[in-house]
Amino acid sequence: MTKKMTARQVRDTVEWLVVGGGIHGAYITRELLEAGVPQEDIVVVDSHGELLTSFRQKARACGMETLRSNYVQHIGPNPFGLQRFAEARNREEELASTRNSQPRPTVALFLDYADHVIERFELDRVVCERTVTGIERDGSLVVDTTAGTIRAERVVLAIGHGGRYRRPPWGRNVPRVEHVWDNTAHPTGTVNEGETVWVIGGGITAGQVATTIADCVERVTICTRHPLRKALREADPRWLNWNYIEDQLHSLPAGSSARLDRLKRARNDGTMPPYLLRELESLSNITVRQDSIDTVIRERDGLLVAPRQSRCENVDRVVLATGFEPIFEHPFVRSVVNSLSLACGHRNVPVLDDETLAWRTETGECSPVLVTGALAAGTVGPFAGNIPGARRASERIVGEYVTGNRLKRLA
Ligand SMILES: Cc1cc2nc3c(=O)[nH]c(=O)nc-3n(C[C@H](O)[C@H](O)[C@H](O)COP(=O)(O)OP(=O)(O)OC[C@H]3O[C@@H](n4cnc5c(N)ncnc54)[C@H](O)[C@@H]3O)c2cc1C
Repeated sequence: MTKKMTARQVRDTVEWLVVGGGIHGAYITRELLEAGVPQEDIVVVDSHGELLTSFRQKARACGMETLRSNYVQHIGPNPFGLQRFAEARNREEELASTRNSQPRPTVALFLDYADHVIERFELDRVVCERTVTGIERDGSLVVDTTAGTIRAERVVLAIGHGGRYRRPPWGRNVPRVEHVWDNTAHPTGTVNEGETVWVIGGGITAGQVATTIADCVERVTICTRHPLRKALREADPRWLNWNYIEDQLHSLPAGSSARLDRLKRARNDGTMPPYLLRELESLSNITVRQDSIDTVIRERDGLLVAPRQSRCENVDRVVLATGFEPIFEHPFVRSVVNSLSLACGHRNVPVLDDETLAWRTETGECSPVLVTGALAAGTVGPFAGNIPGARRASERIVGEYVTGNRLKRLA
């Protein structure tokens, strides 16, 4: 493995600074390097100090064995790179066949291929372990981090969902009520044999946790506000096509409530893929209850769960699979918006240039802050925060600022 940067090696002025070393940060960094940007002109600042840590931890914490997306979605340059990687190592059985779709890789295969790409492109060399705390403008961008300031010509925000997990008021600071991402251990290591567990949420993470722990515990109840809904993907695959995105999303004013409504309707949030639903149905100690919780009371030997529409129940543990707090309202994002006077629309959605993903200023110019991941959903569409969104966003950003014919005049 290549070595990541130490604090001393980080230049104090760079061309490109990528905030976040997740799937999106890794993807665009590889694209920038491939497009000819020299290694010394790029720095990736990540709180974990290593690429893909957040994804690795979350995949393990919910017991995910295969990805929801298919084998052409990964951080490498060639859509069939992961398939070839599997074939060359006799690991084709790790490509799970999927009805009406291409196969899905196991998490292990996906991550081994990601490590292969990281090594091949020496992506680790440009990563430094810091947290970005603010961004200001003084000619170039002045990026404040937990270990000093770095000046950059352009900043790519690739911060994912920002690491704030949604917790209902009754689930805060109660022992034995934990959010699934609070732990980085496999879920079977966080429960005890013979326990009864309630899993709150009706999406893929809830299904994943429930099926993973079902073997070790006495009984699992999935408590969901809505009936379980089936969807293979996070959205209709037509949303992978940029022309379709332009037609369906960019035809509506940037930042408008109409655009956000269309985006919301397009996302299959709170759904489970059919293979997971089948597994859920096959496990006799999993019950699905359509309800919501009013309160949870701590008792001497467990918890008393009080649902709104059914009787109270004594349980040993509650696992929240309730997703993330909205990234548009993340305190770090709000601070960048304020210090750089960036434009926001309905519910604080960033107003981006639909062609280049540059965040517009309040006066309408393109700032040198470029956006990928969930924060770019208003322009990239319902797959923005997913793996395919990384490719879509990088195509626009790298195409515009590195390989494109047009040289964008930055505000
Ligand atoms: C368990 C799980 C399974 C998923 N499966 C799929 C799938 O099969 N297919 C699919 O398409 N999508 C999937 N997704 C959704 C999505 O692809 C992943 O969440 C993906 O990891 C998003 O990548 P990202 O780079 O945007 O964010 P992240 O992986 O969250 O990375 C963001 C990084 O930015 C860092 N960061 C944030 N703020 C700062 C800051 N201020 N300073 C420094 N660093 C910062 C964080 O520490 C983190 O390392 C899955 C998500 C989860 C949680």
